[in-house]
Amino acid sequence: MSEKTFCAHDLAQALESWADPSFAESYDNVGLQVGSATQIIRRVLIALDLTPGVVEEAIQKECSMILTHHPLLFHSPSRILEGDFIGHLILRLAKENITLYSIHTNLDAAHGGVSIALAEILGLHHRTFLNPSDDGTFGMGAIGHLPEPEPLRSFLDRVHARLKTPALRYAGSDKAQIKTVAVCGGSGGSLIQSALDANADVYVTADLGYHRFFEILGPDGNCQMALVDAGHYETEKHTEQLLCTWLTERFPTIKFYCTSAPTTPIKISIR
Ligand SMILES: [Zn+2]
Repeated sequence: MSEKTFCAHDLAQALESWADPSFAESYDNVGLQVGSATQIIRRVLIALDLTPGVVEEAIQKECSMILTHHPLLFHSPSRILEGDFIGHLILRLAKENITLYSIHTNLDAAHGGVSIALAEILGLHHRTFLNPSDDGTFGMGAIGHLPEPEPLRSFLDRVHARLKTPALRYAGSDKAQIKTVAVCGGSGGSLIQSALDANADVYVTADLGYHRFFEILGPDGNCQMALVDAGHYETEKHTEQLLCTWLTERFPTIKFYCTSAPTTPIKISIR
């Protein structure tokens, strides 16, 4: 008896029933990036970003599809050249007949998506969207409560341990009591006001520029809530496992792998 086969389109349809492309931000470019929707898929490699290392791993593991969180293509390229980072990746995928699909801000905004999963990793209860859509069907960021209040210093230790990162940039008093926690995986600077409005004791996100930290200061110059920049890769890395688990439950005959190597080019130096 031959087992049922699935093509890239079947996986895309399932993912889009969870994370509708209409949830995606207007600047985004989610969905099929390179390859064919009708390609038969038996093995899939999942990675936050597409890098040459990820493509080589897909070839080695005989994956005919790569699923990334960050799209390879944001802007229409005017040329596809072997000597460019993106051009080289596209040509390599084409040569190896690998289909590339990306699920980005539509997954950020979905129920059980990137930020809600981040809230779960940090041990938050009563997890909801920080900034829900009008009808509540999707939203940005997440907010929840710690089981017991803890000082900011202990909360930072929790973030270090659970996100496996040795470095955090933050503002706030180490003694501040933390109970309500807002989070947004990746670049969440635009949700600082939402976190303040929701009376969060701390907001954990990434890609915060210097001036963003002034947005949490009250008229007396003290922090109205704590603010933590835990790193873009570090606050989204769990997306690989999230997708792997979700897809494995729905397509048990397909083998899904999380990439074995970190895809971030950023290293952290601590003296
Ligand atoms: Zn991201």
